[in-house]
Amino acid sequence: MTELTGMFRDELASWVKEQGYPAFRGAQIFRWIHQGRDFDEMSNLPLAMREQLKDKAVAQPVQIRLQRESSLDGTVKFLFALRDGNCVEGVLMQYKYGLTLCISTQVGCRMGCRFCASTLEGLVRNLTAGEMLGEILAANRWLEASGRSERISHVVLMGSGEPLDNYDEVIRFLKLLREEDGVRIGLRNVSLSTCGLVPKIYQLADENLPVTLCISLHAPNDEARKRTMPVAEAYRIGDILKACRYMIQKTGRRIIFEYALSEGQNASVQDAAELANLLRGMQCHVNLIPLNPVPERGMKGVDEETVARFMQVLENHHVSVTRRREMGDDIEGACGQLRRKTINNATGELTNAEV
Ligand code: SAH
Repeated sequence: MTELTGMFRDELASWVKEQGYPAFRGAQIFRWIHQGRDFDEMSNLPLAMREQLKDKAVAQPVQIRLQRESSLDGTVKFLFALRDGNCVEGVLMQYKYGLTLCISTQVGCRMGCRFCASTLEGLVRNLTAGEMLGEILAANRWLEASGRSERISHVVLMGSGEPLDNYDEVIRFLKLLREEDGVRIGLRNVSLSTCGLVPKIYQLADENLPVTLCISLHAPNDEARKRTMPVAEAYRIGDILKACRYMIQKTGRRIIFEYALSEGQNASVQDAAELANLLRGMQCHVNLIPLNPVPERGMKGVDEETVARFMQVLENHHVSVTRRREMGDDIEGACGQLRRKTINNATGELTNAEV
């Protein structure tokens, strides 16, 4: 079966022609697909053609298996079902500037960060570009079915997976976002988060795509970072920052550093001062978040006082910093938690309460 969501407009036109149909059908199908439609809904195609296409191709590779809506802030957590039975998570967040969807780029992850639930069972497989786009299309369908007029306008690659470990498909996905007649999400509205795969950061910078790069730093020095992030054995913070400066030079966009505070690990005033020193003079912003404890991992979060103190030190050093809003606290907001809860369910079936 051919997955049509992963094709650029001209590729789809060629494919449709190869199937023996006139090229203009390609443009029609492209439009339908990117509006989240399946073959049955493509009302300007002859019925026989729709039936034939159904046997050969998939128009919508991602379906929503369950969703949970936060009563606190309207955040919606989705469990997306892929065609092979695997599931990944996505989160829809409402900000003043629009609707943001956090998407997954891999089923599982092989980076092994100690605080993260997504990596507990390692990497299962990469997502295709068509599946990543499919997550957006599924969320847009959900919005439409909920009677809402807004559609996803911003995307963050911060769900399960390491985007730069699935490089080619992620780049193809980014380029799909700006196709004519597509979802038309400008790359300035896209943030890509990485644990810091240095050679891939250079490669990304050379693509000249104006995405915002986010670095999961989580420690002020290499020794501390090695305690929680195995990737720190491969790449030093100094080299990550060098690659970041190259990215800034290429895109003109500031870098976001993510820093999850954990009691006894990285949250002291000394840690803050060391971090400030590291980032001094760099065109960047620090996003602080109290670590969301994952039961399997045994790492602690921090109280508000600790966050405030840490923030103050950075501000005193003129480092731009915010405390990230925790969204959907009541709906298993942390990476990989909802999927794990679901696959841990002995029967594999979902209970009514969850649906
Ligand atoms: N692999 C990519 C993107 C996915 S994770 C990366 O490492 O950046 C998205 C963000 O959530 C990362 O900054 C990650 O470090 C963070 N994260 C993972 N588990 C967390 C937890 N339990 N509490 C707080 N942040 C967490």
